[in-house]
Amino acid sequence: MKKLAYLLQSKQVSSIELVEKYLAQIEASEKKLNALITVDKKGALQAAREADQRWKKGENRSPWDGIPIVLKDNISTRGMRTTCASKILADYVPLYDASVVTLLRKQGLPILGKANLDEFAMGSSTEYSSFGVTVNPFDGNRVAGGSSGGSAAAVAAGETPWALGTDTGGSIRQPAAFCGVVGLKPTYGRVSRYGVVALAPSLDQVGPLAKTVEDAAILFSILAGTDPKDATSANAQEFNVPNWDDALIKGLKIGIPKEFFGEGLHPEVEEAVRRALQILEEEGALLVPLSLSTNVYAIDTYLTIVTAEASSSLARYDGVRYGQRKEGADSNTMFAKTRGEGFGAEVKRRIMLGTYVLGAGHYEDFYEQAQKVRTLIKDDLQSAWEKADLIITPTTPTTAFKIGEKRNPLEMYLSDLYTAIANLGGIPALSLPCGKDSRSLPIGLQIMANHFQEELMFQAAYFLEKKLLGRA
Ligand code: GLN
Repeated sequence: MKKLAYLLQSKQVSSIELVEKYLAQIEASEKKLNALITVDKKGALQAAREADQRWKKGENRSPWDGIPIVLKDNISTRGMRTTCASKILADYVPLYDASVVTLLRKQGLPILGKANLDEFAMGSSTEYSSFGVTVNPFDGNRVAGGSSGGSAAAVAAGETPWALGTDTGGSIRQPAAFCGVVGLKPTYGRVSRYGVVALAPSLDQVGPLAKTVEDAAILFSILAGTDPKDATSANAQEFNVPNWDDALIKGLKIGIPKEFFGEGLHPEVEEAVRRALQILEEEGALLVPLSLSTNVYAIDTYLTIVTAEASSSLARYDGVRYGQRKEGADSNTMFAKTRGEGFGAEVKRRIMLGTYVLGAGHYEDFYEQAQKVRTLIKDDLQSAWEKADLIITPTTPTTAFKIGEKRNPLEMYLSDLYTAIANLGGIPALSLPCGKDSRSLPIGLQIMANHFQEELMFQAAYFLEKKLLGRA
C-alpha cells in the first residue's frame, strides 16, 4: 500500500485511475468469482474525484486518501444496501455508517462495493449465501472459505487492494488461508462493532484482509481504537504500524500446541507450517512444545454460544423493524411468514439450536456449561502465555474444499477446529500464507498472541512473510 500511496502523493497516478483499474478487474473476474454482492461504481468514482481534489490542494486526509476498499456486506454503509447475504435484508439500506466505515471515510478511502458472505456470517464456505457461492480464485471448483469468502476472494483476485471482514469463529482467517491472503482477527474490543450486524456479540470482531502483512497492519492501524458507541470497546488501544525489526525474532518463544498437529490435519498443510517454524528456529526463535488440551471442547463450546447469541441477535428481524415483511392475517402469522421465507436453512438451524440451549430446563445443561468451559479455555490460554510469546498453528486442517463437498452441517462446523479458540479467548490471531499444496492451493499458518499483542504478532508475520517469499 505504501507504493500506491507514493504514486498518489507523487501524482503519478490519480485516485480515479486507481478506482477505474479496480472496477475493470471487478468487471473481468466477477462473472467467475461472485465475490461481491454490490458494486458501487458511481459512489467509488465520486469519492475518488473528491480525493483527487484534496491531493491537488495538498489537503489529503491521510497517505491512503483515494485508495479504495471493499467491505463485507454485514457492515452498515449509509445509503448503500447491506444485505448480510440474506433475503430478509435484500433491500435494506442503512441510515448510518458503522464506526469502522466512518473511520475509513475519514481517511478518504472510496468504497468499491460490498462482499459476499455466508448468510449473517454463519458458515465456512460462502455457500450459505442467498446471493450464490463465491468461487476460489485459485480453483473454480472450490470454495473461497467463509464467512468472509467474498472479501478474501476479492483481495486475492486483485479486485481491491484490501478489504474488511468479520470473524466470530474463524471467518476472516479461514477464507484468508483458502485464498492465500493475510487476515487478522484483532483482540476482542480493539475494533468497534458499532454498526456491524451482530452474529454473536461476545465473539464478533472486524478485521483487515490484504495481500501483505504490512498492508493488513496499515488497515488495522486505521480501525483500532476506542469507540464510545460500542460498550465493549477497549480503552486506549490505538495501533501504530511498527518499524519492522528482524532482531525481535531472536529469543522469541513460539508455542507449538500439540493438539493442533494431530488427527485430521492434512500432511501437506502440516509440512508447510513446520517449514515456517523451522525458519523461525533458524533465526533464533525458541520453539516451545505445549498443550492446549481444552481445544477439544472449543467447537462444542463455540457452537453453543454462537447459536444462543445468534438466536437473540436475529430476533430483531421480525418484519416490523428491518427489511423484508410478509403480510399475514395477524401479527404471529406475519412474523412466521417473514422469518420463514426470509431466512435460509443454516440461519434457521442456528436460531432453533440457540433457542433450545437457552430454553428453560436446557439453559443450565448447555448455555451455562458452555460459559464454564469457555472460562477453562481462557485459563488454558492464559497459562500458555507463561511459556510462550506467540503460538503458531495451521489456520485450517485442509486447503480449500470443493463446492458442495460438505453437505453435513456438522462437517462444516469442523472447519473452525483451529480458529474458534481465539474468539472464545478474545485474543488476536492472524492467518499468513505459508505455501501451496500439490494442487497449488494456498496454505495458511495461524499466529496467535496474548490480548493486545498484535504488534508482536505482526512483527513475526512480517519476518516470516519476507523469508517465505525469499525477499530476505
Ligand atoms: N464458521 C464459523 C461459523 O459458522 C465462523 C463464522 C464466523 O466467524 N462468522 O459460525
